[in-house]
Amino acid sequence: SAKGAGKHRIARYDPVMTLPGARDLALRTPLQRAIGAGEIGVVYQPIIDLRSGAPVAFEALARWRYDGEDIPPDVFVPMAARADLLPALTAHVLEVAAAQLARWSVEVGHRSLRMSVNISPAIIADPTFPDAVAGVISRYALAPEQLVLEITEDSLLADLTVARAVAGRLRSLGAGLALDDFGTGYSSLVHLRQIPLQYLKIDRGFTGDLDTNPVTERFMRALLALGRDLGLDVVVEGVERVEQADVLRQLGCRYAQGYLFARPGPAPTRLPTAELLRA
Ligand code: C2E
Ligand code: MG
Ligand code: MG
Ligand code: MG
Repeated sequence: SAKGAGKHRIARYDPVMTLPGARDLALRTPLQRAIGAGEIGVVYQPIIDLRSGAPVAFEALARWRYDGEDIPPDVFVPMAARADLLPALTAHVLEVAAAQLARWSVEVGHRSLRMSVNISPAIIADPTFPDAVAGVISRYALAPEQLVLEITEDSLLADLTVARAVAGRLRSLGAGLALDDFGTGYSSLVHLRQIPLQYLKIDRGFTGDLDTNPVTERFMRALLALGRDLGLDVVVEGVERVEQADVLRQLGCRYAQGYLFARPGPAPTRLPTAELLRA
């Protein structure tokens, strides 16, 4: 009936009915305020050397608590991108993480510990971003190679020419570049070849049944060989069980990250493994 069709039409075009959009709008102002007020939290998860068990790096991960609820970064980072808030969000996380890295470096007495910061596709295409990185390196007296920027394959889809230029400037500053979530994106190896990477992070999609599925183990073996042949340091993400870590060691994998070693959390006031790091 006409009435039915009308109802259907109203339901279809009423913005309140399209839930992601409504949520986006409802959270946009609070997110903007939280970023402006420096209320986005940063937690840290160690990247472990499988030989020694010591952390070689930490990954900084953004956290937003709003109205008693933890909004995951998979939700609020894309939201920030749609609201043009990424430069401010990235600058905040970079600043907080660099300050933490500087404190840890003083504590352990050397500057070999690294800090990884995630950057969105729009940021690797922002020609002003390398200046921001140079800024924190100098303000916190970091060794440039202590800072690692994690990009995803999808970063290379939009404007490869600009991304290459920005990546090149970051590398010439001495900062590190990691390819995050490797194996899940839409980019091609042809594009990857043009970016001066140092680290490859294999997505946790390859880790889940690594210890029980021989096919997954063959994929992992091949991915580790690829990284090694390209001269990259390979980090395997999402290690949750001892058995997975055992397989990785057998395959010659050096670096891993996951709940087995530590969940992302607030920075410990004292690094628990400072002894190991000194050794
Ligand atoms: P990512 O960079 O790949 O970060 C790793 C994610 O895996 C984190 O989720 C971490 O908590 C989770 N994880 C670590 N170990 C394990 C494990 O053993 N098992 C499982 N199931 N998960 C594990 P988180 O913190 O929710 O972050 C999700 C994504 O949000 C990140 O993925 C990154 O892409 C993005 N993100 C986080 N912080 C920032 C940021 O400051 N800027 C940007 N642009 N993106 C960020
Ligand atoms: Mg990451
Ligand atoms: Mg990842
Ligand atoms: Mg991820």
